[in-house]
Amino acid sequence: MNNGSRLVRAFILFVALGMILLIAAQYHFIRFPEPYDIGSPPDLRQKPGWLANLRLRSLEADAPACAARLREAGLEHILLPATDPSRLCHLKNTVMLQRFSAAALKPEQTRCSIAARLYLWERFVVQPTAKAHFHTGVKEITHFGSYNCRTIHNSSHMSEHATANAFDISGFVLKNGKTISVKRDWAEGGSQQAFIHEVRDGLCQYFNLTLSPDYNADHADHFHVDMGWVKDCR
Ligand SMILES: [Zn+2]
Repeated sequence: MNNGSRLVRAFILFVALGMILLIAAQYHFIRFPEPYDIGSPPDLRQKPGWLANLRLRSLEADAPACAARLREAGLEHILLPATDPSRLCHLKNTVMLQRFSAAALKPEQTRCSIAARLYLWERFVVQPTAKAHFHTGVKEITHFGSYNCRTIHNSSHMSEHATANAFDISGFVLKNGKTISVKRDWAEGGSQQAFIHEVRDGLCQYFNLTLSPDYNADHADHFHVDMGWVKDCR
């Protein structure tokens, strides 16, 4: 065997071993220490690191661990009982979300994984971006809700809202009382427009799908985010 084929065999062995370790950790056969424990949701108080995408997936897979992470971050969350209003709509693994790290919101029942992802976005994107542009924080995030048993507009497919796997954000209230709205400020220029575009881009880091006024007229007044199969950011 020449050196080239030895190198190829060693590389294949290395990749295979890496994959076995990854799968074993994801299914809890082995446990890596924090912050490398890819089989469990990350500590929401820490800025997500390079393993964030792998670790955030366990928010969907392990709802009790997700609720525990929210509690650890200071939100006294418990999982709400599952309800199945119809064959196509259900509320499973949901929590009542009423505040994030600093901003409040009108209480809304949503999937625990959606709540945790929004929490990370508020803590590590919204608050620092507001401080950079306005020298103050955000005290409220306004929204159009999460659960809604309906199809996608102009389509026969069920919306991710039908299983509370989505959230619609409409604006922000700063600590000084100033309001920023997706509808009014998206194309208005200045620091408000810069802020609202940056926080939209931040949503794309945490959600599979983020739709904003850039997408279509249906989203002229809010950001839609969800954890469905479609991956896009516009
Ligand atoms: Zn939506």
